Amino acid sequence: MRRAEDRRTWTIPIVRGCKCSRGSFKSPQAAGAHLRSSEHLARQFKVSSRRLDEVLQAVLAASPVTTLQSHADAVVTAEAFLHEEAGVRDLWLAGVHPGLIPRLADHAQAVEEPLPVAYYLGLTYGNPDLSWLRATTRARPDPTVASWLAWVPHDSALVTDDTGEWLRLGLSQREVELATATNISPGAARELAYRSVRTPHAAARDLVGWAAADCRPTVEQMLLLDRHGLASSHPSSAAVDHLVDYARSCRGAPDRTELGVMLSIAGNRQAVQRFLDEGVRTAEMLAARQVTIDGAA
Ligand SMILES: [Zn+2]
Repeated sequence: MRRAEDRRTWTIPIVRGCKCSRGSFKSPQAAGAHLRSSEHLARQFKVSSRRLDEVLQAVLAASPVTTLQSHADAVVTAEAFLHEEAGVRDLWLAGVHPGLIPRLADHAQAVEEPLPVAYYLGLTYGNPDLSWLRATTRARPDPTVASWLAWVPHDSALVTDDTGEWLRLGLSQREVELATATNISPGAARELAYRSVRTPHAAARDLVGWAAADCRPTVEQMLLLDRHGLASSHPSSAAVDHLVDYARSCRGAPDRTELGVMLSIAGNRQAVQRFLDEGVRTAEMLAARQVTIDGAA
């Protein structure tokens, strides 16, 4: 079984005519229960469900290894590795044996606290890159981060050393995902920190903030913003969209990032539009012109 595209429900290989062909399941426990049900197995193997039920009951009665209670020692050991009180049981119902849990936890060895059920499900059903998971959890040894990383598929763009570097720089999951989707590198954040009065953490957050507006300011542009006390401000994507539209009719229109920086310095769209009408094409020019206007006022 596996997690569905919507990331909330679960799917199993369906059997035609069975209720599983009508849609996904709300939890891995529900999906697992259906997979093991005589209703599903009878349809899968085209046998009478009544006869199959009799066989299954006989197997359960004869074989103690089919219940969680029969693995008491493994359960006690596994409980220490789980954050949730009923975690071992939830995993068992989702098809994860308690005997496996210490070995699964070992892939996030740097995390000292017990790990959530979601982490173990990710390792079992999410197909992560195990050596990357081990290295990246070391960058931020946190159970919640480990659960997120365990669900990152091995072929995701996040599976690089950059993810660990971003985590070391203190970015959140959402910020790391944005930095990766927009191709910013931790090296750019370090260079910005080095050349401006920023901590590496602040530099990383500022670059990601600008990336959210689909802008990639250079260090020079960031330094210009710094000189205007706008070190950590960035415009909204929608506001820059409007300016990009407006600038289309201007000869030699500035690019999107330049327009974003111009917007930050001018303070509002109308002011940037006036400057564009007057032939201003760079944030540097706008800043100089604004000083002259302010001085004259
Ligand atoms: Zn079914």
